[in-house]
Amino acid sequence: MQTIKADIVIIGSGVGGSAVAHQLAGSGAKIVMLERGDFLPNEPQNSDAEAVFLQEHYKTREEWQDASGERYRPGQYYYVGGHTKFYGTAMFRFRPMDFRATTIDGASSPAWPISYEELAPYYETAERLYGVRGQSGIDPTEPPRNAFPHAAIPHEPTIARLAKRLSAQGLHPFPMPSAVDFGDGGSCQRCGTCDAFACRFSAKGDAETRVLRPLVTHPDLQLERNAQVTRLIADDQGHRILAAEFMRDGLIARVEAPLFVLSAGAINSALILLRSACAGAPDGLANRSGVVGRYLMNHHLTGLMAINPLARNDTRFPKTLSVNDLYNGLPGDSNARGNIQMLGKIQGAMIRATYPAMPRMLADWLGHHSVDVLAMSEDTPEADSRVRLLPGNRVEVDYRPGSTDAHDRFVHHVRGVLRRSGFPVVLRHGFGIRAPSHQCGTVRMGDDPATSALDALCRAHDHPNLYVVDGGFFPSSAALNPALTIAAQGLRVGAHLRETRMRQSQSA
Ligand SMILES: Cc1cc2nc3c(=O)[nH]c(=O)nc-3n(C[C@H](O)[C@H](O)[C@H](O)COP(=O)(O)OP(=O)(O)OC[C@H]3O[C@@H](n4cnc5c(N)ncnc54)[C@H](O)[C@@H]3O)c2cc1C
Repeated sequence: MQTIKADIVIIGSGVGGSAVAHQLAGSGAKIVMLERGDFLPNEPQNSDAEAVFLQEHYKTREEWQDASGERYRPGQYYYVGGHTKFYGTAMFRFRPMDFRATTIDGASSPAWPISYEELAPYYETAERLYGVRGQSGIDPTEPPRNAFPHAAIPHEPTIARLAKRLSAQGLHPFPMPSAVDFGDGGSCQRCGTCDAFACRFSAKGDAETRVLRPLVTHPDLQLERNAQVTRLIADDQGHRILAAEFMRDGLIARVEAPLFVLSAGAINSALILLRSACAGAPDGLANRSGVVGRYLMNHHLTGLMAINPLARNDTRFPKTLSVNDLYNGLPGDSNARGNIQMLGKIQGAMIRATYPAMPRMLADWLGHHSVDVLAMSEDTPEADSRVRLLPGNRVEVDYRPGSTDAHDRFVHHVRGVLRRSGFPVVLRHGFGIRAPSHQCGTVRMGDDPATSALDALCRAHDHPNLYVVDGGFFPSSAALNPALTIAAQGLRVGAHLRETRMRQSQSA
């Protein structure tokens, strides 16, 4: 069996893993990054809705099952850069109240062991790293912050009209913070595909383009592609992690190191910890509390197609607008709350992928006439919402969304707002857990080892040399897109690891 020796092993090259690598490269430590996928090829299919949605060209071929035993191919994408290769570029900071305990219709959303203020400097670095564009001073929920690194992306005419109509209703639409290299000298070609597609022009601020590509030639970093980690191996007491075992081309290999950072995404990190059960940790690693795999959240995500049959929507990049006036609740119903933001332009092929019986002409007509909006609410964590490892290495996702009624009331209100904005028909579609785009919470952090797996720096309470840095660490989901918060915490953890290493080498 091949054995590699390293100082630090990072498992996964998504937002979390690459942020840690960014901080540690140059520290003198030999970093081995194990990534299950390969570089995503640059090819015409990247921006072809038929290829992406109908032929599912990039989706994993693995199967998971739901609680009833029904099998499906999850909307998971395994490539260098992780899910940011396909993400929608919305790069929001969570709001200070998102880090505090709250309730929604009686369901509790716990406090984070860190505050907005602790994360703020890392949010700033993450925004610079990803090239986020935006404009401060308009969003009424905006936390204290410096100016964005780049000016906001201007609205195209249809979106500018929508912004005016929302303002006329007393709302404060603001330019959505977005990681796209758009503007003078920028590489964005306004190709018309972005959200849920890979970028052919390296204009999308994804983890590969913005963070890893500058690092892959760094002598400290060894990126091992097509290396799927199967388990971590602990010592006899189940205390220190000794090695990561991975499969490549049907062969098993391992990397040994004194330090491990698991960043395989919320669901896969939980699965790796559960698969690593051993005599010293019979319920899986980092799982003395029993929380690993539990508290799976994904946001309540409802897509709204606002249709004016008389107006065609030819917007190329609609993701320039967001509204947070209802982030703390509707007038008279503080539990019904969330964020409103633009989706990427929906096309007929995307509609047919979800509703195969719909005639092509109708789907294309809808795609040409809709203005596409996402209504997002917090999904409160439920202990029984979980990922399980079944006999035969089968994966069960038994997702139990929290506080759905409050989201329904929020969506009802948002549909009214859109109708009053000049769209007589507003269709709704809920994005379910089979495409777990905002998955989080499965390896939650907290101050109490009895109720959490990780401490405030994402270190496992049970293992001194294991960190978990991906959406899994979220104690609650907030109601804003997760990537920037994963990046910021990844940079914070990476800075801590770098300082610790420097201190140790000075005292040695
Ligand atoms: C279509 C879509 C649109 C989205 N839009 C937005 C948006 O606009 N804004 C936003 O903030 N968020 C968005 N998200 C969510 C965002 O992309 C994720 O929250 C974020 O990328 C998660 O980062 P991560 O590091 O936690 O995990 P991942 O991105 O999942 O990274 C994990 C990495 O680990 C690798 N891996 C998995 N298992 C193993 C294994 N066993 N061994 C080795 N490697 C492994 C994976 O291949 C992957 O590279 C979107 C997601 C999708 C799918």
